[in-house]
Amino acid sequence: MQGTVDYSLIALQPDPDSEEFWAAAREQRLLVRACSDCGQRWYPPAPLCPRCRSFNLEWHEAEGRGVIASYVVVAHSVLPAFRPAAPYVVALVELPDCANEDGEPVRLAGLLLDGEEAAGVGVAVEVAWEEAPDGAYTVPAWRAVATPEGAPVWRLDAELERSEAPA
Ligand SMILES: [Zn+2]
Repeated sequence: MQGTVDYSLIALQPDPDSEEFWAAAREQRLLVRACSDCGQRWYPPAPLCPRCRSFNLEWHEAEGRGVIASYVVVAHSVLPAFRPAAPYVVALVELPDCANEDGEPVRLAGLLLDGEEAAGVGVAVEVAWEEAPDGAYTVPAWRAVATPEGAPVWRLDAELERSEAPA
């Protein structure tokens, strides 16, 4: 059973590259960086476009729905804030509405709040917002939603031998 993170033990320090991301998160809006010149999108925020090296940047508001591209179950956390949550799932989530022309996906890592039972590569998720005490900051996490019929799902569990990996 997945517990909860003690966010009171984490002092978030936005930097110039991420402060707008965190400000939007407070309003429960999920932003990814976008290039004003070539249109590339990426995460985490960085000061120049990884594709064309432009410093001409903007933000793209993601719709907050994605698919788990990979995940890990953390059984023992060395971070005090995360100890009460263990075992917990960190999911790497791909955002289809942020897909790039060159095929490079936009992916965000975050907690999967439903725990290990719900985790799987290919599982559909939507953003869920976790708030630190006293409204200090808001963090995007993920919740599983209905995965489309027929979509391949791969789980790392006892069923592994009978599961099929997505193509
Ligand atoms: Zn660019």
